[in-house]
Amino acid sequence: MPTIFAKIIRGEIPADIVYQDERVTAFRDIDPVAPTHILIVPNKLIATVNDVTEDDKLLVGHMVFVAAQLARQEGIAEDGYRLIFNCNQHGNQVVFHLHLHLVGGRPLGPMILKPRE
Ligand code: 5GP
Repeated sequence: MPTIFAKIIRGEIPADIVYQDERVTAFRDIDPVAPTHILIVPNKLIATVNDVTEDDKLLVGHMVFVAAQLARQEGIAEDGYRLIFNCNQHGNQVVFHLHLHLVGGRPLGPMILKPRE
């Protein structure tokens, strides 16, 4: 089953894509929790962090590298930001297509993202 993110990656549904290469696609979250809230998503389907394999190690490193580049591009690198992978139920993962949240542009406080009501 293609996820909503797979459809965004393939251009089948609209999204504010800020970066794309042969390995990852990054687009703005539809429901941002901060001035910058970007999702960095592998173009191939990996459901959760639990499903990352040895072969995916470079890909996941690339996701972090792209996130840092985008943070610089957004002008939030110096002030700082947060990178988050949510995993499964207790991690409040909603979309089962691996994604890295890049969140920043305001002080985020000591807490992780507030759980959705
Ligand atoms: P999760 O809780 O799975 O880590 O987060 C999924 C994120 O995807 C949420 O922050 C949610 O707002 C975002 N999201 C869900 N559907 C869409 C969509 O269709 N477009 C975009 N741009 N973001 C989405």
